[in-house]
Amino acid sequence: MAHAELHHADDDLAQIREAVRALCAGFPGEYWRRLDRERSYPDEFVAALTKAGFLAALIPEQYGGSGLPMSAAAAILEEIHAAGCNGAACHAQMYTMGTLLRHGSAEQKARWLPRIASGELRLQAFGVTEPGSGSDTLNLRTTAVREGDHYIINGQKIWTSRAEHSDLLLLLARTSAREATERRTEGLSVFLVDMRLAQGTGISINPIRTMMNHATTELFFDDLRVPAENLLGQEGQGFRYILSGMNAERILIAAECIGDAKWFIAKASAYAKERVVFDRPIGQNQGVQFPIARAYAQMRAAELMVREAAALYEAQRDCGAEANMAKLTAADASWAAADMCLQTHGGFGFAEEFDIERKFRETRLYQTAPISTNLILSYLAEHVLGLPRSY
Ligand SMILES: Cc1cc2nc3c(=O)[nH]c(=O)nc-3n(C[C@H](O)[C@H](O)[C@H](O)COP(=O)(O)OP(=O)(O)OC[C@H]3O[C@@H](n4cnc5c(N)ncnc54)[C@H](O)[C@@H]3O)c2cc1C
Repeated sequence: MAHAELHHADDDLAQIREAVRALCAGFPGEYWRRLDRERSYPDEFVAALTKAGFLAALIPEQYGGSGLPMSAAAAILEEIHAAGCNGAACHAQMYTMGTLLRHGSAEQKARWLPRIASGELRLQAFGVTEPGSGSDTLNLRTTAVREGDHYIINGQKIWTSRAEHSDLLLLLARTSAREATERRTEGLSVFLVDMRLAQGTGISINPIRTMMNHATTELFFDDLRVPAENLLGQEGQGFRYILSGMNAERILIAAECIGDAKWFIAKASAYAKERVVFDRPIGQNQGVQFPIARAYAQMRAAELMVREAAALYEAQRDCGAEANMAKLTAADASWAAADMCLQTHGGFGFAEEFDIERKFRETRLYQTAPISTNLILSYLAEHVLGLPRSY
């Protein structure tokens, strides 16, 4: 890439970053603390992001989005987190939309994408994980059986986040029995389920209270009828479609972790400069400043990996290893920074009003979701290093 182009790209991102920071300034710690206490959804924050067009960043202009590249979407989520806010309430729209964009028919895209871009329809729910299969997605049991011009869905999903705050659900279900397929990756299909029509007629949603405010749920399907026209792509090829969206998901969540790490590091540095104990700022002690410096170095290294993964993604090159390593290193960096920040604050770190314990709980999730650390290590061991498959 020519230097001028690089410069241009950086300029664009600087403007986007500035605009996101300005929006987030309207949603300070008190806002998130209240929601956290009540375990309620940040409606106003999500509405403001939607209105500003940030959640439609990756939707092409022809469908009403801004057609920005992955690095811009990553910058948006990073800034949200670096400002102390939480993108988990709405980040799914950015990557679930890609499945519709890449694998939907022209008609499906024309029907849904413009309304998703405008905010009229929220595509925030992503139903993959099941209680019985967990990380072993190919073992999922929810079935979709064709009956005339409908599919009849039966089964259960768990950890379907934002289901109560979404109009559409991107659902992965089994359309052929595992034994009936030639390859184990076949037999699963992706549907776009209209939750507005479905509630009370075959789908029930139970909220799950978790250690952080995440609006996650479990879903039960009981003869839910979904029109056949809501099947995305070819029947039986759904696993491949979902996999193709996972790199985007990992890069975007890694960017949120970088934002979290920046927030923890800024908070810790400021406090270490001002808190005086034994007649000196605590940050004058190497025992306090070194962990902050180490967290900074770890964050910067992870940030490079996120950029590398985003650049490969934008160039439409294979980025499976880089997207996984971005997620791994960024989640490790945010968790290390969280621990460091809590320690730097002594007892005050535990007080709600400092926001640290809240962010600490929030960033811990990314060691486990959307893919747990061990599964990334298994991927690298097997697919990059050629070690024997361990499961
Ligand atoms: C708050 C929250 C929100 C979520 N949101 C969504 C969502 O919106 N949509 C969705 O579909 N899912 C969602 N998830 C699910 C998430 O993706 C899974 O929790 C995650 O992939 C891990 O699966 P599991 O919980 O079933 O753990 P399990 O698969 O049961 O694994 C348990 C532990 O064992 C380890 N493990 C399992 N197998 C192996 C192995 N072969 N080798 C080494 N270690 C192994 C794992 O790393 C993990 O530490 C969410 C989860 C949470 C907690």
